Amino acid sequence: MGIHVGANKKGSGEVASKGTRPSWLMKGKAAQGVAQEHSDAAEERKANRGKLWRYYLRPEESGRIFFLNGDIVTEGEEKGSFDIDFVEEHKVSVHGSKVPQFYVCVSRTETCPLCEAGNFASFVGLFGIIDTTVYTNSEGKEFKNRKRIYAAKGQTIKKLAKKANANGGSLAGVMLDVSRSDSRSATVGDDFDLVGAWPLEKLGKRVDPEKWEDVIEVPDFAEELTYLSAAEMREKFHFDDPSGPGYQGQSDDAPNYPAGKGDEDDSMPPIGGDDGGGGDVSDSEIPF
Ligand SMILES: [Zn+2]
Repeated sequence: MGIHVGANKKGSGEVASKGTRPSWLMKGKAAQGVAQEHSDAAEERKANRGKLWRYYLRPEESGRIFFLNGDIVTEGEEKGSFDIDFVEEHKVSVHGSKVPQFYVCVSRTETCPLCEAGNFASFVGLFGIIDTTVYTNSEGKEFKNRKRIYAAKGQTIKKLAKKANANGGSLAGVMLDVSRSDSRSATVGDDFDLVGAWPLEKLGKRVDPEKWEDVIEVPDFAEELTYLSAAEMREKFHFDDPSGPGYQGQSDDAPNYPAGKGDEDDSMPPIGGDDGGGGDVSDSEIPF
């Protein structure tokens, strides 16, 4: 002890001598770059704070929701499908966060870095819902009737279309009990029971007699979804950095939208392509 006393008396704050500066001490350009990254991240957090959350169920969880939109087209080529917004998007798991983030796939206009990295984009239909389930946060505060984005893939959309068709051609005002069977089922639930249907105004007033119009306003998805250009994605996920992208691949908790196949039934495709039953199955037993 005491060997170094006085060794640094000239360099007021410097501990290590020149040439042995640890790499994590940053200065000048490098420091400015990281400062920028931090302020960009803070900006993004700020921007996302006001955004609506996605509806999500844990395996074996259930909830009760009602829809704010979801009319079925009654004529023309689109007849029978939902008159709603659709988007191709990437799900990105973030280290240290339980909540995944979603980014619009840019492959329609430029090379998409997330596609290139092997993160499969999902094609989803967008609904606005009110989640009537009561949640209690860690401080014991209760929340209910929160507006959520319900992003549904192909199989879910087919199930919802059946409910809509059974309800005069719209999901707006339709209340469903939703449950999720297991970890392989769609995160928005895979089983739907009709509770009933009411005029949206009535449902809105039940939630908030004064601000009911806000309650039933369909989310502005152009505002709610996060769109980054390819360049912004590369920067955000450090795709140009050989030390590795700051993302994880898409989790396989739900099947991708089966593009181009429009006539399967609603059952989930067997995971791994095996029906588990073994033995021979003759063509006549296959139910389609
Ligand atoms: Zn993409």
